[in-house]
Amino acid sequence: MKFKPANKIQDLQYFGEFGGVNPSISDSSTYTFLSAKTMFDTFEGNADGCYLYSRHTSPSNLYLGEALAEMEGTQTATVTASGMGAITPVLLQLCSAGDHVVSSRTIYGGTYAFLKNFTPKLNIQTTFVDITKLDVVEAAIAENTKVLYCETVSNPLLEVADIEGLAALAKKHNLTLVVDNTFSPLSVSPAQLGADVVIHSLTKFINGSSDTVGGVICGTQEFIDNLRNVNDGACMLLGSTMDSLRASSVLKNLRTLHIRIQQHSKNAMYLAKKFEADGLKTVYPGLASHPSHELFSSMLNEEYGFGGMLTIDVGSLDKANELMELMQHKNLGYLAVSLGFYKTLFSAPGTSTSSEIPEDEQAEMGLTDGLIRFSIGLDNDIERTYQIMTECMRAVGVLELVS
Ligand code: PLP
Repeated sequence: MKFKPANKIQDLQYFGEFGGVNPSISDSSTYTFLSAKTMFDTFEGNADGCYLYSRHTSPSNLYLGEALAEMEGTQTATVTASGMGAITPVLLQLCSAGDHVVSSRTIYGGTYAFLKNFTPKLNIQTTFVDITKLDVVEAAIAENTKVLYCETVSNPLLEVADIEGLAALAKKHNLTLVVDNTFSPLSVSPAQLGADVVIHSLTKFINGSSDTVGGVICGTQEFIDNLRNVNDGACMLLGSTMDSLRASSVLKNLRTLHIRIQQHSKNAMYLAKKFEADGLKTVYPGLASHPSHELFSSMLNEEYGFGGMLTIDVGSLDKANELMELMQHKNLGYLAVSLGFYKTLFSAPGTSTSSEIPEDEQAEMGLTDGLIRFSIGLDNDIERTYQIMTECMRAVGVLELVS
C-alpha cells in the first residue's frame, strides 16, 4: 500500500489530562518516583513509561517525536533543540576517531563546516562528493567509512539524491545512510526508500512559523535509545534538548503541514514555470529541465508536489542584492535566510547560508554569486506576486539582461 505520511500524523491522537484537545505540556525538568528501585531501573533504561529528567526525554518531546516518526515511517524519533543539534550528535554517535564519512558536497553550510572543520579535530575525516553520481560515491568509500550523508534535496543547489541507489551502496558496504530531509518533508519519505536515519531541521517547513529552531532524528528504536543512553549517548551527553513548551507548539504546527506543503509547492511550481518561460536561469525539481526531475518524480509522494524551494541566477551578486532589496520593499517577501515561512524568503547563498564553503569549492559545485534562493511562501494570489516580481526584475534590469 502507498505510504501516506499525513494520514499517519492525523491518526495520532493525544489528549490533555483534563480532556484538552491538545496534550498537556510537561512543565517539569525532573520527575518523581514512587520507589527508588524504579528510579534505578529508569537510569538503566529498563522502566518503560517512566520519565527521569527532561534532558533525557519528556512527555511533550515524546509526543512530537512519535508524530514525526509516523511521518517518516521509522520506529521512533527524538527531537532536538535545533537542526544542527540533530545532525552533530548523529554523526558523533556513528563515528569514532579514525572513522570516515562520505558526504554530498552540496549540503547546508553549517553541516559542511562541521564535517570540514570540526570533526577532523576528533580525527574523523570526510570526503565530499557529487552525490548525484553513484559511481563517484562508491569510489570514495574506504575501509573505515561509517556514514553516507546527504540531503534529499540539497541546500542551496536543489540537487536530488537517489536515496534507493545510495541505500543499496550503504547496505553493500555496511554503512549508515543518513538523510537530511529538511527541504522535502511529506514530499519524500527517505526511510521508505532505504535511509537508516532521517533528520530534519524543524526550524523550516515543519514548524513553518519562523519562531523557533528545532530538530528531529528519526530511526530505529535501538539507534534512538543509543543516542539517549545516559552513559554514552550523544544526545543525552551533548545536551541539545528541545524544551517541552516548544515541542508542544511545533506539534500543533505539524498538524497543518500537509496543507502548507501543498500550497508552497503549488506556488513554487507556478513561479518556476513562469521564470523559466521568461528566460531566467531557473532551478526547480518540478521543472522537466531539472537534471533529476525524473528521479525526484519517482521518489515523490505525489500529492505534496516538488516543494517550496527554487533558485534563479541573475548573473551577479550586485544584481541579486538589488533585486532582493526591491522585492522586499514591494512586500513580496523578506531578505532573510531560512525557509518554510508563510512569507517568501530570499537570500544569496554564496554570501549567507553557504558562506562557510570556500569560494573555489563554491565555484566547483556550481554555486554562483548571482544565485538567489527562494523559499516560496503561502501567497493566496500567486499570479499577482508574479506580476509584481516581474516589475521588480524589469526595474533592476534582470529580465532585459536575459531576454
Ligand atoms: N539542514 C538544512 C538542510 C538546513 O537548511 C539547515 C538550516 O538552515 C539545517 C540543517 C540546520 O538547522 P538549524 O538551523 O535548525 O540548526
